[in-house]
Amino acid sequence: MDAAPVTPQNLLGLPRPELEAYVATLGARPYRARQLLQWIYRRGAHRFADMTDLAKDFRATLAGTAEVRVPEILRASASADGTRKWLLRMPGAATAEQAIETIWIPEPDRGTLCVSTQIGCALDCAFCATGRQGFNRNLTAAEIIGQVWLANRELGRWPDGPRLITNVVLMGMGEPLANYRNVLAALRLLLDDLGYDLSRRRVTLSTSGLVPQIYRLAQDCNVALAVSLHAPNDALRDRLVPINRLHPIAGLLAACWHYLERQNGRSITFEYTLLDGVNDQPALARELAALLRGHLAKVNLIPFNPFPGTSFRRSPPAVVARFRDELVRAGLTTTVRRPRGDDIDAACGQLRGRVLDRTQVRLGERAGRAAVPA
Ligand code: SAH
Ligand code: SF4
Repeated sequence: MDAAPVTPQNLLGLPRPELEAYVATLGARPYRARQLLQWIYRRGAHRFADMTDLAKDFRATLAGTAEVRVPEILRASASADGTRKWLLRMPGAATAEQAIETIWIPEPDRGTLCVSTQIGCALDCAFCATGRQGFNRNLTAAEIIGQVWLANRELGRWPDGPRLITNVVLMGMGEPLANYRNVLAALRLLLDDLGYDLSRRRVTLSTSGLVPQIYRLAQDCNVALAVSLHAPNDALRDRLVPINRLHPIAGLLAACWHYLERQNGRSITFEYTLLDGVNDQPALARELAALLRGHLAKVNLIPFNPFPGTSFRRSPPAVVARFRDELVRAGLTTTVRRPRGDDIDAACGQLRGRVLDRTQVRLGERAGRAAVPA
């Protein structure tokens, strides 16, 4: 009888200790893992045959048992402002096609890659296109770090070109802290000096506020943190960010201030998407300032990016300016995010990919969205 085919081990997404453990099972020394890391992440190789300083017989062993399986591009688009977007095919567990999106945003002094962490999202924030899609599954560590690998290849960095990705933000589709284990593995590869060698300051994880995981992250890997606040009180935040009903603002901020203790003087960014007539009144800016004052906190105001089917509207520029001025007057460093790539639907909250909602796991289906004014 034929033996069942063995699925090759994907080396992409294995952080250094796991890769060392894997090569040990093949009888190789740990420095082989370090060579593999460099080939895969620094040089962008995915074929063992190209990894010329690995012994021939080790390459043959690898080819028989392992692979570097990178995501596949379904569609690439480029915005007039230079932003690039890739739609990536993600094999669904039992279904047809799923897809996620990865965005590259060039600015004069940096290149930021915005990476997805889940197919869809279960947290169902009222103003987010991803949330409206429902949740299909977590991405694997390979699928998360694979987005960086692929963007590097598409941007033409290999083999030794300039660094076009200087910053990575986990702000694409999905809630990163709801996929903790795989996100942590990807973070380790982003920071590893044989991986992408980014400093902690240049890797930002954005969360809607999963409090226990914020404490864990403070312990495990204190990258820069962005918190999607969007409202300064529980009554309003319960409606906009339904996870607030489980983890209200006071507990969330306590976790943030704990996180700051391990940040060596770096601040936490609070994201606040301005929704016309919903959360953009000056009194709310003052309430927000009172919450954050005295801590190393910055505010990033995000003009709402509309998507089909939403009843929210973007706040007018004068209202955004007034909100910002209130915060600045209260002493908070405040920036207003310039929408990028909106001609290719690549702006925050417009990422939809292609999600077949298998589970229909959604928070706040009844109370949340219905209670939000049109
Ligand atoms: N799930 C994570 C990260 C992805 S969303 C989180 O919620 O933090 C990245 C940011 O875009 C979050 O602050 C999110 O609230 C915001 N956002 C979502 N939809 C948006 C929209 N339609 N317009 C503007 N910002 C939006
Ligand atoms: Fe999920 Fe973030 Fe969208 Fe909320 S804003 S639904 S947490 S991706």
